[in-house]
Amino acid sequence: MMQERYCPHCGVVLATRIGPPDSGWGEILVCENNECRYFLDSDKDIRYKPGDSPLGCRYAEDCEADFRPFNLLAFRGMSSN
Ligand SMILES: [Zn+2]
Repeated sequence: MMQERYCPHCGVVLATRIGPPDSGWGEILVCENNECRYFLDSDKDIRYKPGDSPLGCRYAEDCEADFRPFNLLAFRGMSSN
C-alpha cells in the first residue's frame, strides 16, 4: 500500500501510472493537473519542439528511485477550448 504523494507545484494527489514499456520505468507518479504551473510553464523550458507539437512536461516521480522527480514528456492541450 503506497502512501499518497502530492505535487509540490500544485498540491494535487499524484496519479499512479506504469511507465512506457521501453522506458525502463516501473511504477511512476504523475501530476495530471492541466492547470499545474509546472506543466503550464514547461513549454518555456523545453529545449526542442518539433514544429508546433504541443509537448510539455508533467511533474513525475519515479517510485523505484526513492521518488526521484523527473520530467514526463506529455502532450498539451488534449482538451481544446
Ligand atoms: Zn502539479
